[in-house]
Amino acid sequence: MQSKATVTNLGAVLLGKHVACDAYAEGRPIRVVTHAHADHMMGLGKSLKNCEVAVMTPATRDLIEALKGPRFLARGNIKTLDYGEALTYEDEQLTLHYADHILGTAQALVEDKEKTRILYTSDFRFSRTPVVEADILVMEATYGDPFRVRPFGMMAEGILVSLVEQGLSRGPVYVFGYHGKLQKMMRILYEAKVKTPFIVPERIFRVSKVCEKHGMKLGRNLLAFDGERAQSMLSQRDSCVVFYHMYSRKRVGGEALRIIASGWQFGKPCRRVGEGEYMVALSDHSDFNELLQYVERCNPELVITDSHRSEAARIFAREIEKRLKIPARAAPA
Ligand SMILES: [Zn+2]
Repeated sequence: MQSKATVTNLGAVLLGKHVACDAYAEGRPIRVVTHAHADHMMGLGKSLKNCEVAVMTPATRDLIEALKGPRFLARGNIKTLDYGEALTYEDEQLTLHYADHILGTAQALVEDKEKTRILYTSDFRFSRTPVVEADILVMEATYGDPFRVRPFGMMAEGILVSLVEQGLSRGPVYVFGYHGKLQKMMRILYEAKVKTPFIVPERIFRVSKVCEKHGMKLGRNLLAFDGERAQSMLSQRDSCVVFYHMYSRKRVGGEALRIIASGWQFGKPCRRVGEGEYMVALSDHSDFNELLQYVERCNPELVITDSHRSEAARIFAREIEKRLKIPARAAPA
């Protein structure tokens, strides 16, 4: 049982005999990309060169092309799988299942010839992610520490809207987040009928267009940063919402109202972190209680928590054993 799944020192989640998810692993013919976040695309160039096939959902393929350019994936053999569609390789079967995280995210399930079901959840938010039946469960553990809970649920979304509306009465508002989460915020604002233009740098524009192609409604007012209208609005300090990647947080929007979307905000849904700067608790990950609920509902024989991507993996494995009496360990050890 133990040998059928692990996480390597390079962060590859190994399922069964052939599949490596989310990082390169020597000798594994199938590379799965569960979603288009950087810590799940590790070693992808090497995988494209060396693996027989790289598997992902169609939306993840489109997002990778938007982020890395259309030529990047052309170096390898890509197989897109819709949710529920199977790929058979020798005596094992791989399927992808929906996960609520960013567009295109999938849980990966391998069923081997002994009918053992080996599942990797990847990153997910519990409330809208289906629990997949599994014997061995490899889990993300980002908020695997019992102190990492967000008891306020969806309240942060309403706070985001009111902060933006307040800021817009005085000029532009800057919003910072990761790919995927930025588009979720656009959708929240659009659904709340915030009508001002959304101004975004080129790469975020491309990612947003992919999200729209796959059914997300982001409003009609998306403007690329370099365009004439966007430039004139910014120079005149007109009301608009400017979206930037988290990495640009220290660099831009100094004098405007600034909102940072972060999963690392607990206790209350919003906190003032500086002059005109707020951190809003918007997360695409499950909190501790939700992670535990997934394990409880899945009720596998063994849990492996991913300690390559999370420092809380060891704590989470201990809590699973203590609270649910299910054997659990962190990998890599
Ligand atoms: Zn992610």
